[in-house]
Amino acid sequence: MRRLIIPIFIPFQGCPERCVYCDQATITGEVTSSLPDREKIEGEINKYLSYTKSPREIEVAFYGGTFTALPASEQERLLQTARDNSIQQPEAMRVSTHPSYISPEVIKLLKNYGVTTVELGVQSMETSALKNLRRDYSAETVIDAIKLLKKERLLVGSQLMVGCPEETEKGFMKGLKELVDAGTDFFRLYPLQVFPNTALEAMVKNKKVLLPDEKTALLILEAALVYLELQNKPVIRVGLPESGISSDSLLHDPSLKHRILSRIAVKIMQHVLEKTEKSGVLTFLVNEKKLPEHIGYKKENLNTLNEAVEGRNIRIQCDNTRNFDEIFLETEEGIIEFSRRELLATIYRSYS
Ligand code: SF4
Repeated sequence: MRRLIIPIFIPFQGCPERCVYCDQATITGEVTSSLPDREKIEGEINKYLSYTKSPREIEVAFYGGTFTALPASEQERLLQTARDNSIQQPEAMRVSTHPSYISPEVIKLLKNYGVTTVELGVQSMETSALKNLRRDYSAETVIDAIKLLKKERLLVGSQLMVGCPEETEKGFMKGLKELVDAGTDFFRLYPLQVFPNTALEAMVKNKKVLLPDEKTALLILEAALVYLELQNKPVIRVGLPESGISSDSLLHDPSLKHRILSRIAVKIMQHVLEKTEKSGVLTFLVNEKKLPEHIGYKKENLNTLNEAVEGRNIRIQCDNTRNFDEIFLETEEGIIEFSRRELLATIYRSYS
């Protein structure tokens, strides 16, 4: 049975400081500054269950603050209320928190109440970026927290921001590798967004920090998605939910993940075409789940491939007998199969 994750937001609760970029009210849509009571928690569970048609296992997730920095009595009250709610017993629970607030005592409390996953708001692994974002810890703190959580067999998610002040692709990828090596199970990647009326907005206006340009941030995201795929680490989210803030930047486009996956897909297909040197009608056969990213945003991949070489008619067709891990090219002489992993490792040699 598929599991439904039900978020319960605790905006800014437990946070040691307000990070310069953070605007939880806009990100989560929650404006309250108090911790949820039983009525609120049960209301959210009811609301999310009402959206589903078939029965689902549920997992209650406390997001939007620093859960493990709350007084222990409040952590226990929230977890117990969620666990014993009168609507449906959760199969598991998860919390998101700050890397500085992980200790053996914290982990013991979480496990006692059925928490199986901890998402760490890592944001950056570069000391200067963390300082600029008003986050008072180091990469070592993050690594120690992950190792402690993994030792206790908890699932660990790392939430990372892309486009932090002074960030470079090299620095970002080094930090990403450290997070993978420490045992992170899954990732969320968020482009840094400058929300109005935040300290970050003033810092950017006053030129106190320099943010990487859009092109650099997109390249970093592309490199990160490739590297994590090669490491078999799921990326469960790319980008913030729609914030209602108008922005022309592709980084804040709701289709951001699709756009980056499409860039990767076109590079793979171009590489295959170069390698095969076939002409005539050439059809990529793709499982329907991967079809949109191969065709590309507004069919741009298809157009790019067909513009590139004369004498070829490139098509991309849905074929659900094909798995995701291989690339299939149908030519006039038959079907040629390629390993996606091998292609990625070749095209993005420096990340494999
Ligand atoms: S710790 Fe998280 S929720 Fe709290 S202010 Fe920083 S980014 Fe926002």
